[in-house]
Amino acid sequence: MLVGGGAPITVQSMTTTRTSDVDGTLQQIYALAANGADIVRCTCNEMEAAEGLARMVPRSPLPIVADIHHQYRMALAALEAGVQGLRLNPGNIRNPAHIKAVAVEARDRGVPIRIGVNGGSLDPALYERHGGRVTPEAMVESALQEIAYFDEVGFDLIKISVKASNVPLMIEAYRQLAEATDHPLHLGVTEAGPLPDGLIKATAGIATLLAEGIGDTIRFSLTADPVEEAKAGRTLLESFGLRERKNVDLIACPSCGRAEVDVIQIAEAARDAFAEKQLPLQIAVMGCVVNGPGEARDADLGIAAGRHRGHLFVKGTNVAVVPEDEMVATLVEWAEFIAEHGTDAALARVDVEKARREAEKDRSAMFADKGADVNASEQRIEQIHRRLD
Ligand code: SF4
Repeated sequence: MLVGGGAPITVQSMTTTRTSDVDGTLQQIYALAANGADIVRCTCNEMEAAEGLARMVPRSPLPIVADIHHQYRMALAALEAGVQGLRLNPGNIRNPAHIKAVAVEARDRGVPIRIGVNGGSLDPALYERHGGRVTPEAMVESALQEIAYFDEVGFDLIKISVKASNVPLMIEAYRQLAEATDHPLHLGVTEAGPLPDGLIKATAGIATLLAEGIGDTIRFSLTADPVEEAKAGRTLLESFGLRERKNVDLIACPSCGRAEVDVIQIAEAARDAFAEKQLPLQIAVMGCVVNGPGEARDADLGIAAGRHRGHLFVKGTNVAVVPEDEMVATLVEWAEFIAEHGTDAALARVDVEKARREAEKDRSAMFADKGADVNASEQRIEQIHRRLD
């Protein structure tokens, strides 16, 4: 799996099982792979974990990076286990001889190492030197110091991260790092926290940098099932157009007083109905036929709520009017048809003119039905005329 050098940006996540639990961890890795992860990281904190890695490497659908803190010997054990990458924390493996021993071994095996600087575990000496604070400069200096050790032994298969839980700090550290080095960068907001706030914090940091062209691989560090991390990473890359979409891109209006149905409930039902389907289509759920079809005319397929009926449209063209309780099922049926046969075939299978007339009838009925004039509009209009005439 290439990282950097113009390769597509990859999504990473980390297992939460004990690495010694081979089957449990592999199960999680398969779930991560199915949800968009490209690389997985597993902790290697004890002998049993290294043994687990040795057993998992040949069975894993994703390349495995061993996460190392404090014990450089665990890095050597993970390399012996055959992992495809290492992550070292320069804040807690500080002995130059140990760092170089790992780099030499990685160099000889052609295994890349991520220098994973973390604001929360910065080298105490650097922390002191930078005024007893974690600063972007201190984090970048930590990474450059580690690179210098690697240079001494001719090792350059390097990725770097300078994560912090403070978003502006993390953004500035990565900006400075991108100026200072050409090595691939692994982006993340560390300890972003539980959903939904963690998702927003991580997105704020990662997306800002991606938009500036910084970053080669990303990880959402969420206090949640790691599958959520994989999904978040995949969705972010898809929304930037940095990854080809495999699943439905569901768009839905936020709903307002015009909505003729419970948009939230229908959008959620549609999301669930499409969750397991690999259909690379944009599908719209809109709350009313007044604005819905127009605003979502670029969607491959959409439905807008009329009076207890759903107006189905393909690329903005009405194709059917269906009862409200069949809206989601109809969307699924048409989506599958379009994914298999294309838009033109979908439009050709119905009398589009008849569908347009049907939809128009529904729309006109809605407009004609004014209901009780609670605004006493006729009297108000008279009043307006009296003032202005
Ligand atoms: S599509 Fe209709 S219901 Fe939805 S936000 Fe727009 S105006 Fe409101």
